Amino acid sequence: MEYMFRREPKEVPKVNTKNRKICTKIPVPESLEIIERSIKYEPWSMNNQLYAVWDKAIDYQVFDKWGNVWIDFSSGIFVTNSGHGNEDMVEALRKMIDKPLLNSYYYYLEERSLLSEQLVKMTPKNLDMAFLLTTGSETTECALKLCRIRGMKKSPRKVVMLSFLGAFHGKTLGAQTMAGKPSSWEWIGTKDPNIYHLPCPTNAFESMDQIYDEECGRKVFNEHIEKMKADGIDFDTIAGAILEPYQGWAALFYPIGYIKALREFLTVHDALFVSDEVQAGFGRTGKMFGYEYYGIDVDIICCGKAVSGALPLSAVLANHEILDVDGSLNSTHGGSPLPVASALANLKYLEQENLVEKAKQKEKIVREKFNELKERFPDRVVSIHGFGLAFAAVVCKPNSNELDVELVDRVIERAFEKGLMSIRTMTGTIKIGPPLTIPNDALIEGMDIIIESMEEVVNESN
Ligand code: PLP
Repeated sequence: MEYMFRREPKEVPKVNTKNRKICTKIPVPESLEIIERSIKYEPWSMNNQLYAVWDKAIDYQVFDKWGNVWIDFSSGIFVTNSGHGNEDMVEALRKMIDKPLLNSYYYYLEERSLLSEQLVKMTPKNLDMAFLLTTGSETTECALKLCRIRGMKKSPRKVVMLSFLGAFHGKTLGAQTMAGKPSSWEWIGTKDPNIYHLPCPTNAFESMDQIYDEECGRKVFNEHIEKMKADGIDFDTIAGAILEPYQGWAALFYPIGYIKALREFLTVHDALFVSDEVQAGFGRTGKMFGYEYYGIDVDIICCGKAVSGALPLSAVLANHEILDVDGSLNSTHGGSPLPVASALANLKYLEQENLVEKAKQKEKIVREKFNELKERFPDRVVSIHGFGLAFAAVVCKPNSNELDVELVDRVIERAFEKGLMSIRTMTGTIKIGPPLTIPNDALIEGMDIIIESMEEVVNESN
C-alpha cells in the first residue's frame, strides 16, 4: 500500500529563515478546498504529491498564498534550471504577449529560427539541426522513429531498438515500450518484439565508484552481448540504442567502460546512439549534456524540461541527414511563439551565468552532505549516486537491500513541514534537483533539513 501524505492540517514548529518560512498549520487549512477540488476532478496520479498549493515561484523559492515559503529542491521536476520566474524569460514572454503573437504554427518566426540556431550552437558539431516539439515523450518517440526509418532504408529488418531495464523515456506508446519496467508496457498488450531491454549494468546498492572501473564495465557489456545473442538478436538488425545518462529514480550513472563499449558496438553495426537528455540536459549534471561523462559522441539528443526552463517545449537534436529521413517532422504546438521566446531567453541566461559550471561547483556541497547522511545512517543509506545537482540516496530497510519507500515518503513529508520542497520518487530514494541558481547557503540549509528530517523519522520509527 502506497503511503498517504497526511491531509489533516497539523500544528508544526514555526520556521523563519532568510530562505524559508512556515507560519501556518501544514497542510494549510485554507488550501484544502483547492486540493479537494483537484482530487475530485483530476486523476489520483496527479494528486499523490505533497499538499502544497503554489502561488508563485521565484528563483529557488516557492510561495503559497498564506505566507509559507519553501526552498525548492525539485526545479518543478528538473525544468527550472535557470531559476523559477527567471526575469529574462518573463521579459521575453512579455514582449511576445504585447505584440501580440501567440500562435504561428507552420509559418516562419524569427525567434524560432534563433532558438534552433542557439540549440545547434550549444551542441557538438556533428549535430547540426534542431526539431522543436512540446514534450519530452515526443522526442524519444521521434528518436525511435528516426532510428527505424534510417535503419529500414539500409535493410527492411534493421528495426531493433535497444534500451535498458529501469530506464524511463516518457508516457506515450513507443516511449513506454522502451521504458524499462514491465508495468510500463504491460498495458500495451503485445510487447514490440523489436525493442530489446538490456539489463541495467549499474548496481544501485553499491557505491558510485563502480562506474570508473573501465575494464569491468567492458566485461559486463560483453556479457550482455552474449545474452543478446542467446536471445536471438541478429546484431545487424539493430537500428539504435537509447539511454538516459543517468536513470532518474536514483540518479544512477552507467559504468563508463560499458557505455564506451556500447558506442563502439553501435558504430560497428551501423546503428544510432540516442541520449535521452530530457532530465539530464542543460547543466543539470554539471555538464551541458549528461552523456559527456562517458567521453563518447552521440547521434541524437532528446531534450525536454530544462531546454525551455518553464514553458512546454522540447527538441530533438541531430545531424540533418538523420532528421531529414522523415518528411513528417512537424507538430501543431512545436515551436509555438511563447515557449520559443522563453526558451531562447533561458538558454542565453544559462550561458551568460555559467550555470553549467556553477552546478559542477555546487556538486561538492551536495556530495559532502549526502555522505554525512550516509555516515549518520549507515544501516539505511546504502549508496549515493549523482553528479552536478542531480543526486540521490538509496534508502533501505535496516541492513538489507529492500528499498524503504515509506520511510523516504515520511522524510520528504517532514522536510516539507520544515520548508523544503523535494521530489517524491516512490522508489525509496531521496532525490534532489534544485535550480542551478540556488545560492550555497540555501543549498546547505536544504540538505541539513533532509538530514534533520531523516533523524526525526528514523527515531520515531525505532
Ligand atoms: N525522458 C526522461 C529521461 C524523463 O525524465 C522524462 C520525464 O520525466 C521524459 C523522457 C518524458 O518527458 P515528458 O514528461 O515531458 O513527456
